[in-house]
Amino acid sequence: MKLYNSLTRSKDEFVTHEPGKVEMYTCGPTVYHYAHIGNLRSYIMEDVLEKYLSYSGYKVNRVMNITDVGHLTSDGDTGDDKMLKGAKREHKTVMEIAKFYTDAFFNDCRKLNIKVPDTVIPATSCIDEFIRVIGVLIDKGYAYESGGNVYFDTSKLDKYYVFNDFDEEDLAVGVREGVEADLAKRNKTDFALWFTKSKFEDQELKWDSPWGVGYPGWHIECSCISMKNNGEYLDLHCGGIDNAFPHHTNEIAQSESYLGHPWCPQWFHVRHLNTEGGKMSKSKGEFLTVSLLEEKGYDPIVYRFYCLQSHYRRALVFSYPNLDNAASAYSKLVQKVAALLKATGEIDEAAFSALKKSFADAMDNDLNTSLAVTALYDVLKADTNDMTKLALIKDFDRVLSLGLTEHAERLSVQNDSPSEELPAEVTELLEQRKAARKEKNFALADELRAKITALGYSVEETRQGTVVKKL
Ligand code: AMP
Ligand code: ZN
Repeated sequence: MKLYNSLTRSKDEFVTHEPGKVEMYTCGPTVYHYAHIGNLRSYIMEDVLEKYLSYSGYKVNRVMNITDVGHLTSDGDTGDDKMLKGAKREHKTVMEIAKFYTDAFFNDCRKLNIKVPDTVIPATSCIDEFIRVIGVLIDKGYAYESGGNVYFDTSKLDKYYVFNDFDEEDLAVGVREGVEADLAKRNKTDFALWFTKSKFEDQELKWDSPWGVGYPGWHIECSCISMKNNGEYLDLHCGGIDNAFPHHTNEIAQSESYLGHPWCPQWFHVRHLNTEGGKMSKSKGEFLTVSLLEEKGYDPIVYRFYCLQSHYRRALVFSYPNLDNAASAYSKLVQKVAALLKATGEIDEAAFSALKKSFADAMDNDLNTSLAVTALYDVLKADTNDMTKLALIKDFDRVLSLGLTEHAERLSVQNDSPSEELPAEVTELLEQRKAARKEKNFALADELRAKITALGYSVEETRQGTVVKKL
């Protein structure tokens, strides 16, 4: 498989330290608010990557942190503490906020068919480990105490800016323009490993340490949680593109200085989902969450389908008309799959292998999910029997996780006769009803339901989506 690697800036052959085994790390969510659908784009694409690696025969060990301490609004050492901000907003404690939004995150993941990583670790459960690693970094001369805090000394590295997608000058400007220049730092790119001299007087979570009572910086979390749970050699590190600098850059600096050898050779970054107005935000404009999409009448899986239709290395602009197109394409796809459900007979092995190969070729080419979706459509059009088509759809869906057969089973007419596609008239009315619900025109939605009932079908809204049955 070839995968674009942000470190080398090229599509490289995917390799692992130990044959057949992938140690994979994902930066987890900062649990001060709901995840927006941009965050979830990153998790969907990482989920597809993990599933494709498993599908290709690798044994994957995937680790993710939950950031419940240390992440400031600037991603560096300036700005507000995100968790504290969330707690104040909701008049709750930081831990209450962390629990609530961690649960909400996994709830969203479940709705989007995102598998929970093998190991998920909240940063607050690893404070002793952070303190131990920071101690080693100080002993090795890579970190220093200054002004009450502990900082990583970036001047000790031969190369600090490792992701050459970035222009060193541009980055330096960003650092220089930091609102509160931290005079305690020896170099402008140094970053905090441990804060004791907190600028947040009401800092809720703090722990004792050899350098005084305080709390860890955000970057050290991921280095420590990965090194402890993935081992000394990480194969693949993932995150949204905004994490590349300073977060991942700092993770590499700390981990390699601690280990004394290269740490992770492959970096997978997902470009952002933006709104038509620009950057996706939790505070400005419409806060786009999975629940909001559900309220508007969309099945969350349609959003997954929407994401898979474009390449993870392209920025994606979210729009409702595009989501509507995905919804309509998804429902047609499910209807086609429903028509295959009662297939019997033998699988045509030659056709199966040929069609599977085009799916694998797409995925092997830098996780080209949009071509993989095309390969799925090609199956439906292929000149082979229904049994083979159904087997292929199930096979691809181990990776794409679009819930195609599950949705098809629900949608298929649930009586004892062989499954059949819904009449076009019913499908059309269902689409109109969906649009009416989205616009919260419930009177019209009820009218349309009555028309569908008159044609001999019942319609029911369930957590899994709309279920249509023959009366
Ligand atoms: P956070 O909760 O802010 O720590 O972010 C969680 C994940 O979402 C990280 O991997 C971010 O890089 C990623 N992310 C943030 N904004 C976006 C976006 N607009 N589109 C895609 N991924 C994003
Ligand atoms: Zn991280």
